[in-house]
Amino acid sequence: MNFTELQRMDGDYIAHTYARFPVGVAEGEGAVCRDTEGREYIDFTSGIGVNSLGFCHPAWVQAVQRQAATLCHISNLYYTAPDALLAKALCERTGCSRVFFANSGAEANEGIIKAARKYGSDHYGPERCEIITLENSFHGRTIATLAATGQEVFHKNFGPFPAGFVHTPAGDIDALRQKVSERTCGILIEMVQGEGGVIPLDRAFTDAIAEICAKNDILLMVDEVQTGMGRTGTLLACEQYGLRPDLVSLAKGLGGGLPIGAALLFEKCKDVFGPGDHGTTFGGNPIVCAGANAVMECLTGELLAEVRRKSARIFEAVAKMPRVKSVAGLGLMIGVEFDGIAGRDVVNRCLEEGVIFLTAKHKLRMLPPLVITDEQIDRGLAILNRILTNWEDETK
Ligand SMILES: *Cc1c(COP(=O)(O)O)cnc(C)c1O
Repeated sequence: MNFTELQRMDGDYIAHTYARFPVGVAEGEGAVCRDTEGREYIDFTSGIGVNSLGFCHPAWVQAVQRQAATLCHISNLYYTAPDALLAKALCERTGCSRVFFANSGAEANEGIIKAARKYGSDHYGPERCEIITLENSFHGRTIATLAATGQEVFHKNFGPFPAGFVHTPAGDIDALRQKVSERTCGILIEMVQGEGGVIPLDRAFTDAIAEICAKNDILLMVDEVQTGMGRTGTLLACEQYGLRPDLVSLAKGLGGGLPIGAALLFEKCKDVFGPGDHGTTFGGNPIVCAGANAVMECLTGELLAEVRRKSARIFEAVAKMPRVKSVAGLGLMIGVEFDGIAGRDVVNRCLEEGVIFLTAKHKLRMLPPLVITDEQIDRGLAILNRILTNWEDETK
């Protein structure tokens, strides 16, 4: 099928929920993919922070192929090894005590929301059900996670929403204190607001959140769907803020390309769920968990150190480029703001030149696979630099 046929068929039969770039991606290896016409692109997106090991990482492919030929599915009514191994690895490496597996970021967040409410209800009664989240946050597209999401644009046309979510501006400690009450069971944050424009929280604010949570037995909930799994240079981003969370959600990078979410339950919430309290048909699927186990094995201390090194390389190079107003982010999660140019316009030009980037609000956003090489970084950034240098001429 050529691209024209593909685009027509997609438009005829797939719900029009995505503004797709005009490229049909056919295959990939590492940080390079090829479209249906055979053109190559350097990938600074990893899907959206999903293909943490790049396309078709050999260890991941082998793990997934083996598991597919061994056992694909049996339901959570039986024990299987891949999910138990993955949960053990996650507990050992993050300090959490139990894991609930879901299938996406939104579902992982639903899991930690239910866990927080159950904890509140168990210890203080059913009124303790409120969760404070931040303005400009993003927590998913299900009805409850939309209610948690502090951005009006996502709410339009989908109400009514479940009660029990209170939004407060990031960075404003006084405003947060005023919203905390006997009803508050949890405070939910992203360490770096991703969809909100790649904005890291500041340390004074997260310190205050930790203090408020500890003093009032309020659960500290961190949505690490985008920032987790090594994306920011540590397994979880909250490590870099010295935070000890009670609940963490993971998804995007966890499966290395397969759909999986996880709700990490730390000590306080260890036994919050009993049989029948929560569940999902596909959660902990053996093939998906085999892929995630391969990702976990690859996320060594050396790889995480490499993420931090490559991050510094990108920050340094981008800061020197013309038209760049700011560069923000953590690890390989980077947002670039331009002087008088919309990120989307730069991303479109780069795509034509064989480099793919994302946007976040008005910024260009980079979420390259953690295994991207220096040579690929330099080649991709040289193209970005050239496009920015010639911007006036280009737009004449
Ligand atoms: C992507 C994202 C989600 C939603 O994940 P889905 O897998 O699309 O449901 C939730 N929280 C954050 C921080 C995200 O980046």
